[in-house]
Amino acid sequence: MSKKPVPEHFQFCPRCGSEKLLLREGKCVECPDCDFTLYFNPTCSAGALIFDRTGKLLVVERAKDPSKGKYGIPGGFTDFGERLEEVVVRETKEETNLDIHSVRFFASFPNTYTYRDVAYAVTDSYFLAQVDSFDGIEAEAGEVAGLHLVIPQEVPAEQWAFDSLREVIAKYMAEL
Ligand SMILES: [Zn+2]
Repeated sequence: MSKKPVPEHFQFCPRCGSEKLLLREGKCVECPDCDFTLYFNPTCSAGALIFDRTGKLLVVERAKDPSKGKYGIPGGFTDFGERLEEVVVRETKEETNLDIHSVRFFASFPNTYTYRDVAYAVTDSYFLAQVDSFDGIEAEAGEVAGLHLVIPQEVPAEQWAFDSLREVIAKYMAEL
């Protein structure tokens, strides 16, 4: 199976079963038989760039694909009704056991997240946070292979898990 965007996985109308389902500009599917129309938009995710006072960044070594073994940052997809700021606080606690209390929006970049051959369009939002220390961090079992404290400049670009993360790290370093 190929890694296709979400709309291209629909063959039949989900409402009436028609085979005449049309894909419009990659953004929606439309059924000429029953007028069913379904739009597809990028989903939202939020990640936290958490630094201590010495400039070390907390990274999450991914335990699962996509990008297993590569470096991500604490973060994830929004739940229904959830604010992006809440996502980073919740995901940071889940993945690292770290409590962060205030986050500041930094930048966003588009990304593609492929899971089981479905290529999801995502808008990744990045937030900055600072902590006094990383004492007490603990990797979430099963989800996180390890936690590391790194100097971003010293991490090879290919070690970052996603293009959007490479872009935000580059932006951060350029603005230092
Ligand atoms: Zn239909």
